[in-house]
Amino acid sequence: MRLYGLAATIVLSLSFIITGCNHIDRASSANPTELEFKVQSLQREIDELRTAQSDPVYTASTNPSPTTAPAPSEVIAKIRDEGFNRSQVMATLSYLTDVIGPRLTGSPQLHRANEWTRDKMTSWGLVNAHTEPWGFFGRGWSLKRFSAQIIEPQDIPLIGFPKAWSPSLKSPLVAEVIHVDPKTEADLDQFKGKLKGAIVLQGAVREVQPRFDPLATRDDDSTLLKMANSDIASVGPAGVARASTAAERRAQFADTPVGRAMAARNRATTNPTTSASGPTSRPAVSSAKVLSFLAKEGAAVIVTPSTQGDGGTFFVANASIPGQERQPFPATQPTAHVWDMNAPPVPPQITLAAEHYNRLVRMINAGEKLKMAVELEVEFQDNQMGYNTIAEIPGTDLADEIVMLGAHMDSWHSGTGATDNAAGCAAVMEAVRIIKALDLHPRRTIRIALWTGEEQGLFGSKGYVAEHFGSYPEPTTRPSGRTRRPTTQLVTSQPTRNLIKRSEYEKLSVYFNLDNGTGRIRGVHLEGNEAARPIFRQWLAPFADLDAQTLTISKTGGTDHVSFDAIGLPGFQFIQDSIEYWSRTHHANMDLYDHASAEDLKQCSVILATFVYNAAMMDERFPRKLRLNEREVEAKRQAQTQPAR
Ligand SMILES: [Zn+2]
Repeated sequence: MRLYGLAATIVLSLSFIITGCNHIDRASSANPTELEFKVQSLQREIDELRTAQSDPVYTASTNPSPTTAPAPSEVIAKIRDEGFNRSQVMATLSYLTDVIGPRLTGSPQLHRANEWTRDKMTSWGLVNAHTEPWGFFGRGWSLKRFSAQIIEPQDIPLIGFPKAWSPSLKSPLVAEVIHVDPKTEADLDQFKGKLKGAIVLQGAVREVQPRFDPLATRDDDSTLLKMANSDIASVGPAGVARASTAAERRAQFADTPVGRAMAARNRATTNPTTSASGPTSRPAVSSAKVLSFLAKEGAAVIVTPSTQGDGGTFFVANASIPGQERQPFPATQPTAHVWDMNAPPVPPQITLAAEHYNRLVRMINAGEKLKMAVELEVEFQDNQMGYNTIAEIPGTDLADEIVMLGAHMDSWHSGTGATDNAAGCAAVMEAVRIIKALDLHPRRTIRIALWTGEEQGLFGSKGYVAEHFGSYPEPTTRPSGRTRRPTTQLVTSQPTRNLIKRSEYEKLSVYFNLDNGTGRIRGVHLEGNEAARPIFRQWLAPFADLDAQTLTISKTGGTDHVSFDAIGLPGFQFIQDSIEYWSRTHHANMDLYDHASAEDLKQCSVILATFVYNAAMMDERFPRKLRLNEREVEAKRQAQTQPAR
């Protein structure tokens, strides 16, 4: 799951817009060059634009409650038996995590995962298993060697990890450690000319609090009840009823596990302007500016504390580009990415466990002279295409229609991406394995997708959806003359643009996504699609004993169903128990096999198998959202919010 995207969805209530020109000619060679690829994409786009349709954004369902034809009880009994008694979900998970390892987008390990899952599903009897390019990504990155320890005045092996796309050190480095934590830009002056070749600890200590709350949680009855009673416009995993003002919504969001995780993350990524004694009048200096200063001064390595986590757990993503301020989501200015082929140079960057970082700062403050030894060797792979793994169980009388399920296979790099999201991949793979093993013959074709590039911006699913189902053209002109918030801009501009439909737009019935960790399925986010409620109610009925009963009309964001929902296709993410997602695993070094729960993942795969089978057996296509609905909600939201100019 993509944390920043999720939070942005929650905070901004954005309508997601498909962007980019990730249109792919599947007949092209396996490794087209970037230029070839772009030419093909543009040509395709021109052709599609010429035939652009002017249909409404969402097609109204002719029948809001079609015949659902749920699987008969003996079929469900067989699915449960296969899924609980002959499960291979943990074997799949172990191979993806332990053997293949972390799967950063663009990395050789992720390519290996693409190929291994393709071959695995072929061995289970799926057809048309292939890796399919979704677009040009940029640079792959893999770690060759890393160690960091304090060697003077005493030896301290450090718990930490390089940030992804950090460059290598030319040779193992031993250097002085300097702490830089400016409160103002003027504070930086004292470090001028003093940082060349140094290892810099950037930022304040992060206070570590004892944990009185459990590390692992399941949704309790009151949380689920709140979700069930939430209104159409509320968003997020907590699903609590939507507050009426923006400030109340922020407070409400802050009280969710995601909100707390975000707050913890944000505390250390900006220099605080407040202290225990209250706000100060001094202007803050952003960490982007400080990093820019450190890079200019020639610091050899930049070390920051993990912005959340404790007890040996740290959270680490990609290296930052000096001087590049954090953008709102979606970005309002062109943003360089550290994985871009033409990314500006960045200094090597390391995240340390908070307790270790804090100790080093306290030692320096006590007058100790620290020396650190760092080895850092990495490998870049230039000009990488991104690929999804796709495979199918062919349908029978409705074989040209499609039911999809999926999860993202790429991960961050310090753990093995066990819960984010090899768990989801193993469960969706297990669901299709169960259907094949039972020799069920779905009416519609069941298609599984293992996405990549999710962590960098849902690239794999966006590209696939644009290629197979449709996309909105990029707005050629932006509203000007007055300042509008990006949220308002995008939401109001969407209905005026024409959806460019691709060949399979009318063929897709429904998409199911699993990307909230290892926790069991507790229900479904209906994404504002009220017509889905009676269908899912019926489909979940046989699983009352497995704790999966909650339906919430609310939306959830930050993962690949959003790419489908954005063009009016039914795409759903399940409600899942968090377990240790926010405390231990999500983007952390401890996202390892041991933190996955076998019983939970078996439950997920059994419910997924039932859902896709049921969807494939329906008499009609799954009902789609009504466009009017969405617009009414948006009008209501705007009336309530009264956005500040
Ligand atoms: Zn993630």
